[in-house]
Amino acid sequence: MVSLQLGNRTVVITGAGQGQGAAEARLLAEAGARVIATDLAEVPPAGLAGLASSSSASLVYRQLDVSDASGWSNLAAWIQSEGWQVDGLVNNAGITQRSRLLDVSVADLQKVYEVNVAGSLLGIQSLSPLMGSGTSVVNVGSVAGLTAHYPVAYTASKWALRGLSQVAAMELGPHGIRVNTVHPGFIETPMTASAKPEFRQTTLAETPLGRTGSVEEVAAVVLFLLSPLSSFVTGAEIPVDGGQSAHGGAKSVSDALR
Ligand code: NAD
Repeated sequence: MVSLQLGNRTVVITGAGQGQGAAEARLLAEAGARVIATDLAEVPPAGLAGLASSSSASLVYRQLDVSDASGWSNLAAWIQSEGWQVDGLVNNAGITQRSRLLDVSVADLQKVYEVNVAGSLLGIQSLSPLMGSGTSVVNVGSVAGLTAHYPVAYTASKWALRGLSQVAAMELGPHGIRVNTVHPGFIETPMTASAKPEFRQTTLAETPLGRTGSVEEVAAVVLFLLSPLSSFVTGAEIPVDGGQSAHGGAKSVSDALR
């Protein structure tokens, strides 16, 4: 029977302390999953307040820097020691870096890649051996990975993540592990709270739905991709962006000719 419920399923989420990751932790716990929420902080961050201590929600918090291979090994060993398998992995942790093309340094590029690309690779390498048939990985890309978004290190990292996702979908498919990517547009989180007002206005002008998205709207698509309802979907990329990436730059022309 297909269902959006995730009862008896264990899901690991990275960068779950705030923003989209915290919303995913909340929704997946509500859907009945055992959520292993991870982030940089030693103690459960404020974004998980209530949930990590609530007896009704099945959520445990673990410290994890996704760029640290030994941290991933420790997490995998701990999950095994608990006698669990992994049914879902959400590679959500990400950082931005807003240098422009002629200013960005190789060190900037490496720093962003370590989290956004290597972090997701390490997650897949460490946890896929604990994943059986019918399990699912969701990588969190960005409309930056579908376009020529100006922060070049971030944009290049999200394009690289798409390549990693497609290889993982191909290689893990025979094991029954699905790998899909969501590409959020402008979502209201602490990451975008620091964006310039001009970025907000121009992005809204390029977004057919005419508004920013909420963390819950991304979490809902992640839930679908983790659930058996998407059992024949792998290697897919789903923009959650109010239509921003779909018009290929034609919206300003359409708007100008109204
Ligand atoms: P956020 O900055 O609000 O939260 C990111 C979380 O990742 C934080 O809790 C942070 O502590 C954690 N993190 C950072 N580096 C880490 C590391 N090395 N190891 C473990 N955790 C780490 O960001 P968000 O807006 O919620 O973004 C979540 C994901 O969505 C990111 O991959 C981001 O690139 C992507 N995204 C966001 C938007 C948006 O508009 N907010 C748009 C497109 C894509």
